[in-house]
Amino acid sequence: MSDLNNRVILITGASSGIGEATARLLGAAGARLMLGARRTERLEQLAADIAASGGQAAWQRLDVTDRASVSQFVDAAAQRFGRIDVMVNNAGVMPLSPLAALKTEEWDRMIDVNLRGLLHGVAAALPRFLAQGGGQFVNIASLGAHYVVPTAAVYCATKFAVWAITDGIRREHDNIRATIISPGTVESELADSITDPGTIEAMAAFRAAAIKADAIARAIFYAVSQPADVDVSEIIVRPTASD
Ligand code: NDP
Repeated sequence: MSDLNNRVILITGASSGIGEATARLLGAAGARLMLGARRTERLEQLAADIAASGGQAAWQRLDVTDRASVSQFVDAAAQRFGRIDVMVNNAGVMPLSPLAALKTEEWDRMIDVNLRGLLHGVAAALPRFLAQGGGQFVNIASLGAHYVVPTAAVYCATKFAVWAITDGIRREHDNIRATIISPGTVESELADSITDPGTIEAMAAFRAAAIKADAIARAIFYAVSQPADVDVSEIIVRPTASD
């Protein structure tokens, strides 16, 4: 695995699933990491594991729905490591349900975490990237950024938005790389937040075909390890046994 050469990489939602797997892979490859999420005991353990394997990882409590919290997270990374190179906007929630169930609080939560949370990450990191003359966003969208399935309309709307915002960053800035990562079904805790009984049952088949989070970590590694003039603008990674 090539060395990430002390690149400073921030990961939101690093306490489980794709964020955790990415932290372990990039930490082992020589990145200096700042890890954020609300479950700090998990971040502390993850940072300790990475350090025990010879890597460098700091952590900070982060709630992406709070703009000040995201701003403090980015500031803490810049203070600790002197700069920031990559912002991985990964935190997300997915409480799926049919629209007619009118789970409006869950709609709001998806908008707040998946969409507003991403924008808070952009607002915190973009000025630093511009001041430094470069940087990279890696924004975790989904196959749900490409098509909609029943129960996923609001989730997909947030992921279409992740796609659009990331493409917008790329089009507006020649010196900032903007990478969309679009996973299919991956083993993680993401579906645990579903409360609609019919949707929980329907998810069982999807989850049976899920691939490991490490598959997404490897895609992120590929995108961040390219030379500065190469922008990997999107990677789609899905289970072989899927539509
Ligand atoms: P997990 O549920 O395992 O991880 C989600 C992460 O987001 C957790 O670390 C959680 O940390 C964090 N998070 C949730 N809310 C907040 C918040 N308000 N502030 C900060 N962090 C928060 O799921 P995945 O690893 O699967 O999800 C990662 C990303 O991948 C998401 O954006 C998801 O939409 C996307 N994705 C996942 C797919 C899958 O099949 N698993 C498929 C396509 C896309 P904590 O609770 O500690 O704050």
